[in-house]
Order: sequence, then C-alpha cells, then structure tokens
Amino acid sequence: MIEFLSPVSIPPQDQALRQEVRAFLHDALAGRAPDLLARSWMGYDADFSRALARKGWLGLTLPRAYGGAERGHFARFVLSEELLAAGAPVAAHWIADRQSAPLILRYGTDAQRQFYLPRICRAEAFFCIGMSEPDAGSDLASIRTRARREGAGWVLDGAKIWTTNAQHAHYMIALVRTHGTVEDRHAGLSQVIVDLHAPGVTVRPIVDVAGDAHFCEVFFDQVRLGEDALIGTEGEGWAQVNAELAFERSGPERLYSSMVLVQCWLDLCRGQGSQDSATAVLTGGILAQMATLRSMSLSIAGKLARGESPAVEAALVKDLGTELEQRIPALIGDALGALAEPPADDALWRTLSYLEQMSPTFSLRGGTREILRGIIARGLDLR
Ligand SMILES: Cc1cc2nc3c(=O)[nH]c(=O)nc-3n(C[C@H](O)[C@H](O)[C@H](O)COP(=O)(O)OP(=O)(O)OC[C@H]3O[C@@H](n4cnc5c(N)ncnc54)[C@H](O)[C@@H]3O)c2cc1C
Repeated sequence: MIEFLSPVSIPPQDQALRQEVRAFLHDALAGRAPDLLARSWMGYDADFSRALARKGWLGLTLPRAYGGAERGHFARFVLSEELLAAGAPVAAHWIADRQSAPLILRYGTDAQRQFYLPRICRAEAFFCIGMSEPDAGSDLASIRTRARREGAGWVLDGAKIWTTNAQHAHYMIALVRTHGTVEDRHAGLSQVIVDLHAPGVTVRPIVDVAGDAHFCEVFFDQVRLGEDALIGTEGEGWAQVNAELAFERSGPERLYSSMVLVQCWLDLCRGQGSQDSATAVLTGGILAQMATLRSMSLSIAGKLARGESPAVEAALVKDLGTELEQRIPALIGDALGALAEPPADDALWRTLSYLEQMSPTFSLRGGTREILRGIIARGLDLR
C-alpha cells in the first residue's frame, strides 16, 4: 500500500530495490500472524537477519572495504521502509545496522572498523545501546556508570536499564563516565564497546505489559575492558551520542509501528466492501498524514545523504510520527467498536490489543516527546 504514498525524489536505482525486497518478504514472512508482524523492530529473529545479510542488505551504506554495499541513504530508506511496513522481525540486527555501524565507521579506529563492521554486515555481531540508567533516562548527563583506567585498559562498574535486546546482543555501545563527577554534566562522558559475554556482566530481561521481554537491566561488576574498548575520543561521548541519535530518530521506524494494523483494517474494509463516508474519512486521514510524514522523513534521508546532521529535523519527525503511530490503534479501535457487527477476526483483535498496550512506549524510546520538543524549541531559538 506504500504506492499510495507518492515517492518523493528517490533516485530510480534505489526505488528499483523496492520490488526485490517485496518479493523476498512475500516469501520470508508468509504465514506469520499480524500480531507477530506488529512487533517488527521489537521482533528478534537472528535467522531472518542472516537471510537479509545473505542478500547483501545489512550495512547497505557501509564501504565495500568493510563488507558493505556502498549504497546511499535513499537505498537504505527504501529497504527500511519495506521491512517495517511489512512488519519484518528486524530487531536482531537493527541497532547494529542503524546506529552502531555508522558510529564505528565515523569514530572508530581502522582496527575497530576491520573487526566489527564486516561481522555486522554478515549478521554475526548484534549490538545494543547502553544509554539509559535507573536514575538517568532523559537526563543522560547524570549517568553514573564509570570506566576507570587500569593498566592498558579499563574497569567498568555500574548499571544500565531498558537496554533493548541486551539478552541477545554480542556487544553494547555504552555511554559512561571516564572522568569527573555527575556535577561535570556532559564533560567526562565517553563511549565504550562492551563484550556482553565478558566476566562481570549480568543481563536481566524485563517483561513488558504485553508479556514480551525485549529490553533488559544490565549490570557491570568490575568488568575488564581492553584499551581498544574506547570508541572515538575520551570525553567526547556526549557529542558522539548526539550524532548517533540523529540516525536513530529520523528513519521510517517512527511512522510505521502501527502499519500492520492499518493493513488489517484495509483488508477488512476491502473484504466487507465498506463504502461509507466515515471509513473513507478515517482511512484517508491516516494515509494523508502518513504521506506527509513520509515526505519529511525522506527529506531527512536527503540531508543525511548530503552529509548533514539534521538533529532538530529528526526530533520534529519523531515527535509528529510517534503521535500518529499512537493515534492509529485508538482510531481503528473506535471504528471497529462502532461497527454494527464486530468482525470475528482473532488476528485483527490481537494486533489491536498488542498495539494499544505498546503505543504509549512509542514516544518514550529514543528520547521522550518532552525532550524532543525541547530540542525543537532550541533549534527555533525559542529557548
Ligand atoms: C521500548 C523501549 C525501548 C528502549 N530501549 C532503550 C535502549 O535500547 N537503550 C537505552 O539506553 N534506553 C532505552 N529505552 C529507554 C528510553 O530511552 C528512556 O525511557 C527515555 O529516555 C526516558 O527516560 P526515563 O524512562 O528515565 O524517564 P525520565 O527521564 O525519568 O522521564 C519521566 C518523564 O519526565 C519527562 N521529563 C524528563 N525530563 C524532562 C525535561 N527536562 N523537560 C520536560 N519533561 C521532562 C519525560 O518526558 C517523561 O515523561 C527504551 C525505552 C522503551 C520504552
């Protein structure tokens, strides 16, 4: 149904990737229930990620020298959009592919690039993001996890929370304090790569309201890290993290979290031959907003392609996109409730129920709505 959302300036060679991805997904996802598909980038399936890697679709924008396909941001946009709109279970590789690999490419040493990037492209190295802590979520500058120098390496102590897929990932890129105190705020923060199988690391999954365990608490008790654990420059972690968050916030995953439900709704309307104006207003309204947001997200892909760092624009798209993603289950739920004869479609109800439970989290992960609005206000010189 993406063809309803007019493509905005995607180069033809990147647009051509769409049909290939669709054909692959048609076979790979056949028979998966919609409520499973609705989990999409929360859905962990390492075999699926490896199948994508065999197609050459992990590390799409990375240089060939590191195992990538050296394609542009629009190609990655098309791939991401097709995966998410179809509800593909992308969680295993998503963070490594979206964030960790670009971060390592930009700030890592050549040895770090040679070591991690080809394995990310082959779906052999999965990553998680260690930013939030029990007392530091929005206010990342107050994190307490600390890496202190010892000999040639580091010793890590502290705890992270809400770490998506830490129980499956091989590595975490953690934001930690390497010097100073909490009062020093952003100064003294650094990023380190932690092998999650190292002695002293404990990972404890947290079960969410829908019964899934996709995020974790992670504890570090005197974890020994090598000299090469530091990524980028010591003390520059804050600037590095902000560059990383622009990748996290700008993509189509901020538009399509409720897309599988929209598809269920369209299937129902088509099956029932619904022609009434209320259905047209609801469906047209959702698609019109999605088309606008998609254009905005594409425009950010264009900025990334030009080497810009569109942090304010990405915050704006995430804020507006998650608002729509959150509204869709309520809108479709109301429309289903208004039907004279509720459909006997268990898959539809399970999908709706899952998204109604999860949608409040859409505007928390990756930075809350209030924090994003603060960034937008600063970008507009209002603060
Ligand atoms: C599904 C999911 C997956 C996640 N995955 C990860 C992950 O992989 N890695 C990771 O590091 N974190 C992850 N998180 C954590 C997420 O980034 C944090 O929950 C988020 O940053 C908010 O932090 P907090 O929960 O500590 O809330 P708090 O920071 O305590 O905020 C509580 C409330 O106060 C508001 N608030 C806080 N400060 C301000 C302010 N200055 N102005 C106005 N309002 C404010 C917030 O908007 C929020 O509504 C995940 C969260 C979810 C829900």
